[in-house]
Amino acid sequence: MRGKVDWVCDRLEEEYGAMEWRSHGEPLGALVATILSQHTSDRNSERAYDNLRRRFPTWDAVREAEEGEIADAIRAGGLADAKAPRIKAVLQQIYERRGETRLDFLAQMPTDEARAYLLGFHGVGPKTTACVMMFSLCRPVLPVDTHVFRVSHRLGLIQKRIGEAKAHDALERLVPPERVYPFHVHMIRHGRRVCHAQRPDCGRCVLRERCDFFSAAQDAAAGAATNAPATAAARKRAPQERETLHGLPPV
Ligand code: SF4
Repeated sequence: MRGKVDWVCDRLEEEYGAMEWRSHGEPLGALVATILSQHTSDRNSERAYDNLRRRFPTWDAVREAEEGEIADAIRAGGLADAKAPRIKAVLQQIYERRGETRLDFLAQMPTDEARAYLLGFHGVGPKTTACVMMFSLCRPVLPVDTHVFRVSHRLGLIQKRIGEAKAHDALERLVPPERVYPFHVHMIRHGRRVCHAQRPDCGRCVLRERCDFFSAAQDAAAGAATNAPATAAARKRAPQERETLHGLPPV
């Protein structure tokens, strides 16, 4: 299976280009941005994050603000009344543990320790933790969102029944540490542009040669339309538009 993962990474890199793994910002900012990105579009959560930073000059100012004030600042991101108390509570927990509202010290911690530290906060789950670890601290901890899960399952890298939570561990065992970041970003890009949730566009997919879903569909349809060769036009690389992930600023 590791050979297949390497093959998938190679094909996606050819299709979407090489990725440079650089930090998207300090860890506390990444944590708040990831909370804001839950159940909304990246565009909306980015606006909410920008508004929050404009309204409150420091994380201490956010921590000391009323929940209603925070909710007003992040309204553009949706679910503001649920996210505001969550953000305030996480900032308060950090302050109570450390005596300061910062997470920069995580950069000095071993990966497992830093991950356990983040998971210890009420309201911070495996995906949010993995986003902070990978996007901010550049550690090989793989976030599994709906696109990564769907495409991985269709390719046959993971079983659907294990669910998204366990898929973190299963995929992390398969993906070489140095490929975790490009794997995550490319799988999301592929899920958004080609391997759609409803009607995947297998005819222009560079992964179909080794895709379980495609081979099963091909067997079932016995030479139906999805068997047409991918044409140069269909395979043309999608434009590299500005794209954000989990509400974090693009590098
Ligand atoms: S062949 Fe189809 S199902 Fe498989 S990864 Fe590509 S688009 Fe998704």
